[in-house]
Amino acid sequence: MTARIRPDLDNFPTYVPGKSFPGAFKLASNETTSGPLPSVASAIAEAAAGVNRYPDNTNLALRDALSESLGVGTDRIAVGCGSVSLCQELVQIAAGPGDEVVFPWRSFEAYPVVTQVAGATPVPVPLTPDHAHDLDAMAAAVTDRTRLIFVCNPNNPTGRALTAAEITSFLDKVPSHVLVALDEAYFEYVRPGGDAGETIADGVALAEGRPNVVVLRTFSKAYGLAGLRVGYAVADPSIVAALGKVHTPFAVNVVAQAAAVASLAAADELLARTDQVAAERTRVRDALLTAGYDVPESNGNFVWLPLGEKSQGYASASADAGVVVRAYGADGVRITIGDPHENDAFLVFASGAGLDIAKS
Ligand code: PMP
Repeated sequence: MTARIRPDLDNFPTYVPGKSFPGAFKLASNETTSGPLPSVASAIAEAAAGVNRYPDNTNLALRDALSESLGVGTDRIAVGCGSVSLCQELVQIAAGPGDEVVFPWRSFEAYPVVTQVAGATPVPVPLTPDHAHDLDAMAAAVTDRTRLIFVCNPNNPTGRALTAAEITSFLDKVPSHVLVALDEAYFEYVRPGGDAGETIADGVALAEGRPNVVVLRTFSKAYGLAGLRVGYAVADPSIVAALGKVHTPFAVNVVAQAAAVASLAAADELLARTDQVAAERTRVRDALLTAGYDVPESNGNFVWLPLGEKSQGYASASADAGVVVRAYGADGVRITIGDPHENDAFLVFASGAGLDIAKS
């Protein structure tokens, strides 16, 4: 007889990571293509020599470095094993059975998973027809059971960004006892103009004076440390203290902490790389628009093709053509912006066999 586990797990979605195939270009997981800078690689090597010791469970060196770079007190910073673990911890501190967690949908795959793992009820709010958050509908979805709202800016996987004014007016509508997580995993890729507005929405500034607002960021994307798993939250000290209570002890390892500190010290060089990604994003989108695709504006390191029912067939044909992209149900396909030759390989597919599928 198998052991008895929670029967409700049978109904949970399982997080599906991007696939990879030997020899194919992987444009499926929003990773950066460059390895660590020499300064970061040597910090990693140095830290690796000390892995017989437990890490600092308070992540103090990293929190101090973040405090300096963000201009907020160390007591307002929590560090997690990737920002996904902070998403989970936020649900754990805010919601349990009978409570509701509101999030846009389609959005980051982990929101419904972490909500259900905590026994809370997911309240997905459909995006607008042009693939952006429907903030009015999200505000209207708040009930007296709502404990947490995720806002994903820019939205993964559609790429659409919110302006500071849009977020502010949303926050004004949400009762101040409801926690709001501004998930800014792709913050460093946002560029002014268009979708994002003339002044980029910076969650840390928007959260000023709003103790119910938490900002989530990560070292996995622009800082290129996806494999080491470090993310952080900027929040009211009371929220940081609560996160500490549900945190798995020593979840952020010695090497990850050292690499994140070294990456912050090299922020100028790492952030300069995001300019290349933003330029490639424009080039790829323009090429796709020219080919006849509908491509929403993106402020992430990816673009979105809303291909509906054709999404799965499109992604598997792309993989057959040597470029792994990611299909999301019957909604669309997300293509990570890679190096120019990788993007070119995708564009060759997209303007040939891919276009036939998209237009069929
Ligand atoms: N939030 C969003 C919107 C994401 O897309 C991701 C990664 N796919 C994360 C959070 C989590 O990133 P990590 O755990 O690597 O920090």
